[in-house]
Amino acid sequence: MHVHAHPDDESSKGAASTARYVAEGAQVHVVTCTGGERGSILNPKMDRPDILENITEVRRQEMERARDILGITQHWLGFVDSGWPDGDPKPPLPEGCFGLVDLEEATEALVRIVREVRPHVMTTYDERGGYPHPDHIRCHEVSVAAFAAAGDPERFPDAGEPWQPLKLYYHHSFNRPRMQALHDAMLQHGLESPWEERLRDWKPEPEWDARITTRVRCDRWFGVRDQALLAHATQIDPDGFWFAIPRELQAEVWPHEDFELVTSHLPDHPDATVGQVTEDDLFAGLLDHPDRTGGRI
Ligand SMILES: [Zn+2]
Repeated sequence: MHVHAHPDDESSKGAASTARYVAEGAQVHVVTCTGGERGSILNPKMDRPDILENITEVRRQEMERARDILGITQHWLGFVDSGWPDGDPKPPLPEGCFGLVDLEEATEALVRIVREVRPHVMTTYDERGGYPHPDHIRCHEVSVAAFAAAGDPERFPDAGEPWQPLKLYYHHSFNRPRMQALHDAMLQHGLESPWEERLRDWKPEPEWDARITTRVRCDRWFGVRDQALLAHATQIDPDGFWFAIPRELQAEVWPHEDFELVTSHLPDHPDATVGQVTEDDLFAGLLDHPDRTGGRI
């Protein structure tokens, strides 16, 4: 189960791993916390008044297409996008948005879905949100709280039969070493890199990068990932930076997506070493686990 803040996040974070696991027979379920109602239109070709007027419905349809392309099932958690607070100082968040919703209320809503879907593995964002959008930070808080509460019969007794997912991961694919490696490869091939400026402003954080524990090889599914991204036509510019690096070069330089194992309830799992890259599979250690019912085939 991937828990994401907005429609399109499931296609921009961990999507190639998702496509790989679906191809291998796993059931991958996405929970989308908000409807993306306050997202800006980021593709100039879609920046039209008729689309802006119906943005909620348009984004639902985009999500349906991405869902089909990735082969996933999905729930909307039902909260309203907080929007990106633009300005200095930042303006207050709009009333009733996901960023301001009571943590217990949002956690209960997610616990209900966890207990219904019964995932073995959950993913979410790190405590910084991956990037500091208020909905991404909220998504992190709600996911961590739901992972801890879902198996506890004392918590939210009206939200279904307790179910404890066994592993919790954070996405780490937007890491600086990856960007640097792709940037260097572009220059070596005489191509213009889209990351020049971004790398200059992004100070190396070796300790942060050392948190990666798990690299999932998924280059065969980069094409599926790209198709899913393109389904979010209001959010993704086909001529923009998402597609500036040739897919073959990505496969050569960084053929995996990166994750951090944060919590494991598999005491016997020898690869589950937090703080070292020791895993190549989000399901590592689960295949022999007695609780593995209805999960990966
Ligand atoms: Zn988002």
